[in-house]
Amino acid sequence: MTQTAAALIWFAGLVGWYVIRHPFARKAKKIAVSKSLFDPRESILLAIASLGLFLIPGLYILTGIPASLDRPFIAAAAWLGLVPLCASLWLFRRSHVDLGRNWSISLEIRQHHTLVKTGVYRLIRHPMYTSFFLLGLAQMLLLPNWLAGSSGLIGVTILFVFRVRREERMMLQMIGDEYRAYMATTKRLIPWVL
Ligand code: SAH
Repeated sequence: MTQTAAALIWFAGLVGWYVIRHPFARKAKKIAVSKSLFDPRESILLAIASLGLFLIPGLYILTGIPASLDRPFIAAAAWLGLVPLCASLWLFRRSHVDLGRNWSISLEIRQHHTLVKTGVYRLIRHPMYTSFFLLGLAQMLLLPNWLAGSSGLIGVTILFVFRVRREERMMLQMIGDEYRAYMATTKRLIPWVL
């Protein structure tokens, strides 16, 4: 594995993400929203995650900036990066399929919103965020630069920390006891662990 191949693999992962999300984003536009918490705070969080996962690594691959933070390229680490990358794409797709018409890019309750507890949601409440963390991990292993490698994990951590409680509070307000019972039997990100 060369450094260029690792960069191309990272880019292929990005394309994969877009291809998976695009049809769901298109369909979601047609489904009415009954409650939305989409506010400037949400936009900032989404911008931070996009900066870390896409813009900073993209700029690094195209320009080599910031070269002062380069680290040695380790082929074995890049090979290892394929594991979280494939896992991320699989989980990203699965969670979109399982959430179906209930999916939103932000915190929203759709008309006729139902609580999904099946598929990957049977084991964890936030598989899509798990897939973001896996993508960030792959970025770290594939890109030999301290900033461009770690920015994805940093961005996703900020999004997760500032969003997850708010999301769960919204679900509790809308769905109540059923969500409380669901919380009692599931973890957030890693089955049986976290
Ligand atoms: N946090 C989840 C979903 C992210 S998409 C995950 O990481 O997989 C965000 C939207 O999904 C929110 O607007 C919320 O309304 C919806 N949502 C989250 N969990 C849900 C569930 N179990 N069933 C139905 N909708 C859910």
